[in-house]
Amino acid sequence: MFSDKDIAHFSNLETPFYYYDLNLLKETLKACNNAANAYNFHVHYAMKANFNDKVLKEIKAIGFGADCVSGGEVKKAIETGFTNGKVVFAGVGKSDKEINYALDQDIFCFNVESLQELQVINELAEKKQKIAKVAIRINPNVDAHTHANITTGLDENKFGINSWDMPACADILNISANLEFVGIHFHIGSQITNLDVYKNLCVRVNEFAAWFEDKGFKIKILNVGGGLGIDYHHPNAQIPAFEAYFKIFADFLEVKPYQEVHFELGRALVGQSSSLISRVLYVKNGKKKNFIVLDAGMTELMRPALYQAYHQIENISPSTTGVTVKYDVVGPICESTDCFGKEVALQETFRNDLIAIRSTGAYGEVMASKYNLRDAIVTVTSDDI
Ligand SMILES: *Cc1c(COP(=O)(O)O)cnc(C)c1O
Repeated sequence: MFSDKDIAHFSNLETPFYYYDLNLLKETLKACNNAANAYNFHVHYAMKANFNDKVLKEIKAIGFGADCVSGGEVKKAIETGFTNGKVVFAGVGKSDKEINYALDQDIFCFNVESLQELQVINELAEKKQKIAKVAIRINPNVDAHTHANITTGLDENKFGINSWDMPACADILNISANLEFVGIHFHIGSQITNLDVYKNLCVRVNEFAAWFEDKGFKIKILNVGGGLGIDYHHPNAQIPAFEAYFKIFADFLEVKPYQEVHFELGRALVGQSSSLISRVLYVKNGKKKNFIVLDAGMTELMRPALYQAYHQIENISPSTTGVTVKYDVVGPICESTDCFGKEVALQETFRNDLIAIRSTGAYGEVMASKYNLRDAIVTVTSDDI
């Protein structure tokens, strides 16, 4: 929700821009931290959701670790001041250059996604005479009941090592002198709103942990990934249900006294604390359809074009007519998928009205592109006002 002061400030600024509410971000981080601490759970922030400097600074300050999916993210995490011992590196296609860089930085752990990757990390670590800490990312074949494009834990997905490869995995771990096996890792998808999904995940985690321990491996880390969703339909409800989320793991995971439970939350931590603010360039009234053409497009916010994602759209300029009209809200990019919402009921809208696209803190700014040779995206934070 925006105050009159926010809106007055926005109306003096060039659009489009991402607006970040740093107070809401801090409240969200605190709520998550308190809920996790109640069970002694460890949180790593999934940096790919948002790596804006001011956002990262807050997340570092609360003491979370960093979950990275590229060498660039590992570098950014370390430059931001995350301790190397709290940086983990996942990703299905780590290059030799990225692995070498992460080895040089003595990060906490590689989350390894294939048998071949295990062998490569062992070889590269041997050349540096280092011991690489590794966790195995296992594909548990658990359905996350989310959009197909953001499901990652099914047999048909490219992520992780499949259950039938576990014996071969154990063999490699046994003969690899430069690997230290620390635990098992899972990440089954994103924007998960049905928490029962996590009960199913816990059952699988318990099975895999028992399997490895039966074989004589000690599992120190149970990393259950992230994926907790936010309520895109109620952007003002704001803080996700962290207590209920962590309680499921406390209730259903079998945790030994020497084991740590790790989480990798992205969206839930940052999603609600940002909106994309845009101006109406044109209103096109047709016979069957009314279009609003914004100065923001899929180059600023790709989620609707990429996975038909819903974002609440609001006209935040004062209403002048009191009439409600349905509009297709589109961007200026030369693609038909450059559409933020169809048949969106808004107050009657005019050129230069300010439009807020809500809940854009996760997978928004980070996915911005230069397509159509667009200007670089601008950000404004609540402490600028
Ligand atoms: C993207 C990702 C996450 C975070 O997902 P969210 O849905 O944003 O919580 C966690 N772990 C891994 C390995 C990821 O790739």
